[in-house]
Amino acid sequence: MASASGWTNWSGYISAEPAQRASPGSVEELQAVVRSAPGPVRVAGSGHSFTPLVPSAGTIVSLQKLEGLKSHDPKTLQATVGAGTTLGKLTPMLQGVGQALANMGDIDKQTIGGSLGTATHGTGSRLGAYHTLVERVELVDGRGGQRSYSKAVHGDMLEATGVTLGAFGIITEVTLNNLPAYRMRKRRWVLPIEDMLANFHDMMTAHRSAEFYFIPFSGHAMFLASDITDEPITHRPPEDDEEGLATLKMLRNMLKWFPWARRALICNAMRKLPREDYVEDWLKVYTSDRRTRFNEMEYHLPIEEGPKVLAEIIQLTEDLFPDVYFPMEVRTVAADNFWLSPFYKRPTCSIAIHHDASEDPLHYQKAAESIFRRHGGRPHWGKMHNLSAVELSKLYPRWKDAMEVRRDLDPDNRFVTPYIAKLLGVE
Ligand SMILES: Cc1cc2nc3c(=O)[nH]c(=O)nc-3n(C[C@H](O)[C@H](O)[C@H](O)COP(=O)(O)OP(=O)(O)OC[C@H]3O[C@@H](n4cnc5c(N)ncnc54)[C@H](O)[C@@H]3O)c2cc1C
Repeated sequence: MASASGWTNWSGYISAEPAQRASPGSVEELQAVVRSAPGPVRVAGSGHSFTPLVPSAGTIVSLQKLEGLKSHDPKTLQATVGAGTTLGKLTPMLQGVGQALANMGDIDKQTIGGSLGTATHGTGSRLGAYHTLVERVELVDGRGGQRSYSKAVHGDMLEATGVTLGAFGIITEVTLNNLPAYRMRKRRWVLPIEDMLANFHDMMTAHRSAEFYFIPFSGHAMFLASDITDEPITHRPPEDDEEGLATLKMLRNMLKWFPWARRALICNAMRKLPREDYVEDWLKVYTSDRRTRFNEMEYHLPIEEGPKVLAEIIQLTEDLFPDVYFPMEVRTVAADNFWLSPFYKRPTCSIAIHHDASEDPLHYQKAAESIFRRHGGRPHWGKMHNLSAVELSKLYPRWKDAMEVRRDLDPDNRFVTPYIAKLLGVE
């Protein structure tokens, strides 16, 4: 249990007892915190990362007071927002001014700053992660100075600082390039995993956004596809994910040592799942409520490696880890040019494995990680992995350039904890 000044992440796996918590009400107050609060100074978003990016023995800063829609332009479809704004608060504000985010991930609890912090992404082979939407960023550097970078004037600096890990500066404000508000038709159906893997490329590229979940010990995938439409709204059916997870856990508990019976029962339940097909405004389509707590590892792979890596992960899981019951999530992400982006110059297939938060995830993750790494995977910055600067620097062609920019922005290492030092190779 965290104390009054204590901090824990969403899954409860990571915690910290900083000397101080700060919640500045203005950029000037934030500058003062960066200059003089006990270091290291780490900025927290909503604590939805699974890696120890936020913990500090010095100061943990929240930007919850630096939130909201500051301005918007109906001609350019740009909107400027405070970095402490959560996506859940931002989406209705954008809808209210006729704008929409081009894409979203699974949940809307993250802050804008935190989403940029770890290259948070959704799915869609032609759609980039959140940082690719940024037109302009304002940040406070390690000496408390204000910096402003825009795509038009400082493209290189934006690409260097776009994925920040809270180590290049504290973002206070961001201008996003948006779309006119739109509606989406979303469909869901179940198919055998062999068919999904055999038709992976066609199925993942036939829709604006597509993803699938593989349910362990079922032989089946649940495929989800969304496309922009003008059709009338039909409303989203109530979510059934939490109920499904509870059933999978119960079957795991009862039939862990009887995989054939477990498979037969899960298959039966999946076949009975109704096909979903609805039309809704964009902000009601992408995200879900995730109430069952888990820990997660996600690796970003060259897209062509996706199907074979998933096949190996499935075999590993079903041969050696009968405790696993959480679905695996498979998505695609477009390549970009951001130096520390896991999608840097690489069309990507992302594979995520999840483990019940009350159970030890480490053995399973270690075994899966060796498969992900053998195929050139780059870890999600905010999800569990065991890499440090030596391995990471080989995965990012512009690593050295990025570290030089970081040194320039934070010469006194105000943002560097022991974890960040190991991750980024800061001496
Ligand atoms: C249930 C759940 C579902 C998720 N779904 C997805 C998904 O669909 N896609 C995906 O890619 N990820 C997903 N994630 C991971 C999550 O999106 C990322 O870990 C994200 O960084 C969390 O945002 P946050 O606001 O909680 O930031 P935190 O976790 O609090 O912080 C993350 C990093 O960002 C830095 N940071 C925060 N604010 C700022 C700022 N203002 N300036 C500079 N740096 C800052 C922090 O210092 C830290 O390094 C999910 C996580 C959970 C728990």
